Order: sequence, then C-alpha cells, then structure tokens
Amino acid sequence: MCGIIGILGSEPAAPRIIEALKRLEYRGYDSAGIATLDADGAMQRRRAPGKLKNLDEALASDPVTGDQGIGHTRWATHGLPTQANAHPHVSGPVAVVHNGIIENFRELRHELEAKGHTFQTETDTETIAHLIAANMKSGMSEIEAVQAGLGRLEGAFALAFLFEGRPDMLIGARKGSPLAIGIGDGEMFLGSDALAVAPFTNRVIYLEEGDWCVLSRESYKIFD
Ligand code: GLU
Repeated sequence: MCGIIGILGSEPAAPRIIEALKRLEYRGYDSAGIATLDADGAMQRRRAPGKLKNLDEALASDPVTGDQGIGHTRWATHGLPTQANAHPHVSGPVAVVHNGIIENFRELRHELEAKGHTFQTETDTETIAHLIAANMKSGMSEIEAVQAGLGRLEGAFALAFLFEGRPDMLIGARKGSPLAIGIGDGEMFLGSDALAVAPFTNRVIYLEEGDWCVLSRESYKIFD
C-alpha cells in the first residue's frame, strides 16, 4: 500500500508534500513523485526511484514552486519501480496519483491508443490520466471528465487529480483504498490517512467507499 497527499495550501507545497510522504513511509514504497502548479498555473513534476531522499535531492537540484500539488509513494504493481513509472502520471492538463490497481487498464489503453494517445509508461495508472484528458478534450470540464472517467474504471483505487491551469482545485476519489479530506484554515488537503495530513490539520473526513470529492481552499463537495 502506497501513499497519497494532495495540498491546496497557502505556503510552498513541495516541503509539505515531502513531510506528508515521510509520514506515509511506514506503508512501504519503491519510488516517489510530486507535481505542483506554479504561480501561473503551469504543472511542474519531479520523480525519483528509491527512497524519498532521492526525490528530496531531485527537488534540491531542480526545485518546484507553488502552494498546491499532489505527491505519491509508489508500490509498483504494473511496471518496474523506475523514474518513468513513478507517479504522478500526466496527460495533457491532467496529473494523477493512484493507490491500487486498475483491472481493465489494457482495454482502456487500447481504446485510448486508437484515439491517438501515446503512453510513456507500463503502469495501469497512466491510463487514468489519458482517460480524463480525453474526456476534457471532448469538451468536458474537469469535474465532468473525472465523473465520466471514474465510471469506466474497474478495480481498486484511491486517486488525487491536479489540473494544469486550475489553481484552486483538487479532485479525489476512493474505491477499495482509503482516502481522507483534511480541512485547514483556508487550506484543504487529501491524504491516504489522517497521519498524512496531521502536520497541517486535525479535522479529517474519511471518504466512504465509492465517494469522490472536489476541493477548493475554502470548500469541499463529496459525491457518491
Ligand atoms: N498500480 C499502480 C502502479 O503500479 C499503483 C501502485 C500503488 O498502489 O502504489 O503504479
């Protein structure tokens, strides 16, 4: 079981994401990664195989900015624990981190490849990023694209999505793997468990099985 953290904050996100991921190390992992949005809403991503120290070093030599982002510690199920296979996975404006396994990813991948999507990894997770990006390309909003995409996924997942050019939005979803919302003071968080968000808030709501949520800094909405 790996770890997820998402932050819509009011201070630099990267150090906080690393802090949260360190608290999730007990779950075991083989690689880690982070994506943030800079002040202009552009996506920045760093990933590293192995321990969080390696991601820390990657960030030290090539820092990211921004006060919102997502982070992940991966326990590889599909594809080797390489930098390329580390999360977040990105397609178009969509970045996603994922806990679990998408059982019908091959079928979805073939469908998306037929539409012209090119895959960079061997993971089941990358399919999710492409699926949501394809929905957005067909004219759906971020929320509509995730809602439609979730309906196509079979398997177990906890997910956190970050969208380029959407500086006050995170979307989370849970089916078969836990995910919690942390409510801060003008800040909002997503985490695999309360421990992940504990440095930032002790107000935590666990999503129920099949729930998904849309977060801004000031509000959250939960759908089932
Ligand atoms: N199945 C995904 C992968 O292999 C996620 C694994 C996990 O839960 O960390 O990348």
